[in-house]
Amino acid sequence: MARVFAKGVIYMRIMIVAISICLLTACQFTEQPKTAKTIDMYNQEGDMVGTAKLAEDPNGVKVTLKVEGLTPGYHGVHVHEIAECVHPDFKSAGNHFNPEQKEHGLLNPKGSHLGDLPNVEADLSGKVDEELTIDDATLMEGKNSLTDSGGTSLVISSDPDDGMTQISGNSGERIMCGEIKEEEGQADEETPTDPTEKREEK
Ligand code: ZN
Repeated sequence: MARVFAKGVIYMRIMIVAISICLLTACQFTEQPKTAKTIDMYNQEGDMVGTAKLAEDPNGVKVTLKVEGLTPGYHGVHVHEIAECVHPDFKSAGNHFNPEQKEHGLLNPKGSHLGDLPNVEADLSGKVDEELTIDDATLMEGKNSLTDSGGTSLVISSDPDDGMTQISGNSGERIMCGEIKEEEGQADEETPTDPTEKREEK
């Protein structure tokens, strides 16, 4: 009798461990592709000049921008509405990402575009290593998603954004660009289908 009882306890322990592992790994596999992503940044010659690491954050999407080859000083940074970086002028990226139909400019009372970000400062060697937040944006689904509907792009300009002038803050030429989108073949298949998980994300 004692032997049978002990066996039962062991089986139960194994079951509990197995279920815990299952829950933990399922969580990681489904959330990772949707909440973090690193994109490559290219200059007007089409050379890769750095990266931008994007990560879901309680306030929006956090961007860790690391690029080199800029002129020292301030430069505008914006999310644009199309995930297409065709050099040299990057006009293919379209206008600033503006899903809420506002005006341009972080200093504009009628602003701002969702894609308007603070200027970054390149050091004397032309490098930028800064953290920014795209307020109210998401890497998951929704109106403010950076990756839904084909994606968006991150563009650095030659001059700083004055925070006011329509429609792009008088920030000069587009000199660096990186596409923000789902990787090929990964598009919608990875969307979590487990309803319990969606509840946890809120
Ligand atoms: Zn704007």
